[in-house]
Amino acid sequence: MKSYDVCECGAPLELREQETPEPTGSEVLLRVVAAGVCHSDLHFWEGVYDLGGGRQLKLTERGMTLPLTMGHETVGEIVALGPDAGRLRIGDRKLVYPWIGCGECKVCQRGEEQLCLAPRFLGVFRPGGYSDHIVVPHPRYLLDIGDLPPEQAAPLACSGITAYGALRKVGGVLQTEPIVIIGAGGLGLMCLALLKALGGHGAIVLDIDPAKREAAKAAGALAVIDANAPDVVKQITDAANGGIWAAIDFVGSDKTVRMGIDSLTKGGKLIVVGLFGGEINLPTLYIPVKAMTLQGSYTGSLAELSDLLDLVRHQPLPLIPVRRRPLEEATAALTDLKEGKVIGRVVLAPVG
Ligand SMILES: [Zn+2]
Ligand SMILES: [Zn+2]
Repeated sequence: MKSYDVCECGAPLELREQETPEPTGSEVLLRVVAAGVCHSDLHFWEGVYDLGGGRQLKLTERGMTLPLTMGHETVGEIVALGPDAGRLRIGDRKLVYPWIGCGECKVCQRGEEQLCLAPRFLGVFRPGGYSDHIVVPHPRYLLDIGDLPPEQAAPLACSGITAYGALRKVGGVLQTEPIVIIGAGGLGLMCLALLKALGGHGAIVLDIDPAKREAAKAAGALAVIDANAPDVVKQITDAANGGIWAAIDFVGSDKTVRMGIDSLTKGGKLIVVGLFGGEINLPTLYIPVKAMTLQGSYTGSLAELSDLLDLVRHQPLPLIPVRRRPLEEATAALTDLKEGKVIGRVVLAPVG
């Protein structure tokens, strides 16, 4: 088994070759067909989150160990089953749900494994898809992709479910009011596509990059606005013909969170998804007087991924631009993403 692993935070990934594991118990072994390169991989690669004020959260102090095989957006082909894995067809292609918890705590029992305090996330705490093989602990984490091409299905496990989980938090105004989407990277474009599939009214999309704004416009945004414009909040409210009821921030910097809050009308909600980091200083009076909601959203549950796949099967998404690159180019793919050179998604695939 070949994988490209983080051996030192931020350093180029290293090729490691090991014995291909034999699945035991309920485990399933898959041959990787497509592994999405996600913006959060940059954080796992560098091993830190920015907490603002010069402080950092180190992932190696939160249970991440090196070497790490990243990759949490994986489609694979079943090649072997543990004795307790039940009846699955060898050769079937499945999407892997990576946000796996301990399986035993109340949170996991409630079906919110992505919020478990003892996570076993594939590609973060357990080996993920930057490899030619992946082991999944139980067949319930494997979902049917039907006729979806693997490189379109793979990003549903993270960017898809993350955008979908955030949109589900918007509530009833989704169909009647324009929402704001901050950030037109992979997540923002996915959100725009899902909003359409859900019958949403539409979105005003903000980004600092003209190429990304152009991509959002082509994907059907009601309006696109330069997030660096000095009168950005006024431009948002003008485009919305009034205040905004819901904004989703896929960046999560102090600047974007503040911009999101400032664009809300009374009773509005800001859903923060992005992990850019920073800190905000907010008059607490705003919270009751604006009757505002500030809510975080972290990926989504196994049931949400299953709902999302149903949605996409009945309401095919416009194809997000996807570039396939061989697994050997994992470091280059991460570097391009870091430098903001990627429109849409990059999917790695082992050659052969
Ligand atoms: Zn748990
Ligand atoms: Zn991700």
